[in-house]
Amino acid sequence: MHQSFGAALIDGKGFAARLLARLNHDVQLLEKETGTVPGLAVVLVGEDPASTIYVASKRRQTVAAGMRSFEHRLPTTVTESELLALIASLNENPSVHGILVQLPLPAHLSAGVVIDAIDPDKDVDGFHVANAGRLATGQEGLVPCTPLGCLMLLKEQLLDLAGLNAVVIGKSNIVGKPMAQLLMAENCTVTVAHSRTRDLAQLCRMADILVVAAGRPGLVRGDWIKPGATVIDVGINRVEETAGRPVIVGDVAIEEAGHARAITPVPGGVGPMTIACLLANTVTAFRRQQQIGS
Ligand code: NAP
Repeated sequence: MHQSFGAALIDGKGFAARLLARLNHDVQLLEKETGTVPGLAVVLVGEDPASTIYVASKRRQTVAAGMRSFEHRLPTTVTESELLALIASLNENPSVHGILVQLPLPAHLSAGVVIDAIDPDKDVDGFHVANAGRLATGQEGLVPCTPLGCLMLLKEQLLDLAGLNAVVIGKSNIVGKPMAQLLMAENCTVTVAHSRTRDLAQLCRMADILVVAAGRPGLVRGDWIKPGATVIDVGINRVEETAGRPVIVGDVAIEEAGHARAITPVPGGVGPMTIACLLANTVTAFRRQQQIGS
């Protein structure tokens, strides 16, 4: 980054490493208390290369945090009723406290039907309709990992978010919508923008907190960012470098964002928080199932 770049770079990688170390410590205490450790079951259908890498990384980090990892690999030809039967057995398995079905699923399987078959109290991705409803109504539930990670980073930076203007770009069920709900729960004044939003640049200039989850490289330019704003860049975009080597960039033109108060780099910002929050959710689910306070 340029020498005159004034914004602090938010170290999601470091935060996630500290969170994982704390979870590892908690798991050891929980094992002493209960004689058992949290277990996370991950279901992978097919051999999508990106999904295979994510699942391997989740398994590695689950084990590193001292938890049990159950991996179920199913062929692309699996039927919906076979997959639902597996989920029903995981729902009943007392050693499994969290269940995650890696998305996307092959086209003949309905992600909505499959996710909603998971016991909501084991739905560590927080995608079940019951958990979306709990979040929207301020009830205790499991919160989607990426927005949960974003909120942790924001609270570390700003401590109290109450009264701040927050703009969230993106309204997906897994990032934008739950992010907006979490910010509302912190008493921010929240605006959710999307591809049909008029004058997005002007809207962003009002934001004390700007969360960008559009999947559009360089969408947010420097002059869209209010001086002193805190910017969370959720985007992960693979673009071709001029030398022909692909690089990962976010949705914000970060080199133009030096007047922000703080910004997450891509990579190394939000990305590492997602798996750490998945494991945090697994510990939370375990505690609730074992009726242990936090
Ligand atoms: P998504 O389902 O494709 O949703 C994208 C959202 O952005 C939609 O609401 C869309 O609006 C909006 N949008 C698209 N182009 C826009 C534009 N030009 N101006 C304003 N809004 C625009 O994506 P997602 O799953 O939420 O993911 C978003 C990004 O976050 C992706 O880059 C993804 O890879 C990344 N991501 C990162 C993590 C992580 O761990 N860091 C986790 C999940 C996702 P409409 O609703 O109007 O179409």
